Amino acid sequence: VEQNPSQPEFHQAVKEVLESLRPVIESDEEKYRKEALLERLTTPDRQILFRVSWVDDNGQVQVNNGYRVQFNNAIGPYKGGLRLHPSVYLGIIKFLGFEQVFKNALTSLPIGGAKGGSDFDPKGKSDREVMAFCQSFMTELYKYVGADVDVPAGDIGTGAREVGYLFGQYKRLKSTYEGVLTGKGLTFGGSLARTEATGYGLLYLVEELLKDHGKDLKDKVVTVSGAGNVAIYAIEKAQQLGAKVVTCSDSNGWVYDPEGIDVELLKDVKEVKRQRLTEYAARRESAQYHEGRGVWSVKADVALPCATQNELNLDDAKNLVANGVLAVCEGANMPTTLDATKYLQENGVLFVPGKASNAGGVAVSALEMSQNSERLSWSFEEVDGKLKDIMVNIYHNIDEAAKKYGLDGDYVAGANIAGFLKVAEAMEAQGVV
Ligand code: NDP
Repeated sequence: VEQNPSQPEFHQAVKEVLESLRPVIESDEEKYRKEALLERLTTPDRQILFRVSWVDDNGQVQVNNGYRVQFNNAIGPYKGGLRLHPSVYLGIIKFLGFEQVFKNALTSLPIGGAKGGSDFDPKGKSDREVMAFCQSFMTELYKYVGADVDVPAGDIGTGAREVGYLFGQYKRLKSTYEGVLTGKGLTFGGSLARTEATGYGLLYLVEELLKDHGKDLKDKVVTVSGAGNVAIYAIEKAQQLGAKVVTCSDSNGWVYDPEGIDVELLKDVKEVKRQRLTEYAARRESAQYHEGRGVWSVKADVALPCATQNELNLDDAKNLVANGVLAVCEGANMPTTLDATKYLQENGVLFVPGKASNAGGVAVSALEMSQNSERLSWSFEEVDGKLKDIMVNIYHNIDEAAKKYGLDGDYVAGANIAGFLKVAEAMEAQGVV
């Protein structure tokens, strides 16, 4: 805390991991202390901070902060998204980069952990302004990234449009056509099923989790928060698997739709027209729109927070438990506060942390890197099939890691332990670096 003041999200992420690693560390305390492995693991390899100047449509120069935190590349090139949101500061990027190290290890693919972004807000900006920002951002970032060095991707506020502009500028600056970013358009090296990957992957894991507990998604009521990339494809896959999804939300309000969310309408409102959820409610008779937050007050069998960090707090957890929720699986990164997580686990709810349950996005990003390296494109079915195998494998991997340390059903500990053991072994083998 003293070395990283005023970074509560980073402290929260580190605390959760270190607490669950206790049994592993205690199994060989002397060795871990001597090698300062935890200190090395919680200190980023490199933190890059830079100014991003760009000109808005009124001819006015705007200035934003740019970040890239390269956290750990023990098992592969740095990999992690770029977040564009006014709430972004170093502490958010560090927490996300730290989580990414473990998540990427869980995918079983060779990728290290990083994260970046800016306090730039793409909402309400013209395409030209977004392009001007992205070009300026990449004019600094290109020095530090590359297909074998660090491969950024999308995150909140960074979708196909932003990735396209970033890629164009990288190519111009480096005169090199390489897979420096993932989440690219399909005409220039993007992978089929990348858009769907995080949401679909979340549901593949939920399906396996429920199956392992003798249940399935058929006719289950599911609540989802968010209305962005992760939320939309989580809703779509949940419905394909027979569940009824009755909520979604954005940062202004939320929708309750007892008939089940109309996912095609939601895509039109959010992906095509870039409108607010009030527009969804205006075009759908069965939908009720509420200002503020409230998704977790709705009775559900399965709850999937897919918006942002710390959006599900202790009161929300109490509501969910009182309403008989079976499982809470995170689509977003760290959406559940530490006390809410504890409450859910203590009350018998099956809880899976984002670093396991939302790893499908980065897994398919790594598959995009493979396709770029061999200059081939795989079919949707091939990528989707690999995604499903990866998510099923992640569930069993974290389940077994928890069991091995006598923590049966504690998937938070299981995910942290399984990710840690892989990265720690690689770090030890490579010496003190
Ligand atoms: P998007 O930008 O596509 O969507 C984010 C959604 O969350 C929007 O509905 C947004 O509402 C809402 N939201 C964002 N910030 C807040 C806030 N402070 N309060 C309330 N609502 C908010 O992002 P993604 O769907 O890509 O990402 C969602 C989460 O999933 C993030 O935590 C991200 O890190 C994580 N994630 C994403 C992956 C991916 O592949 N996309 C992979 C793994 C994790 P509004 O439009 O009003 O801002």
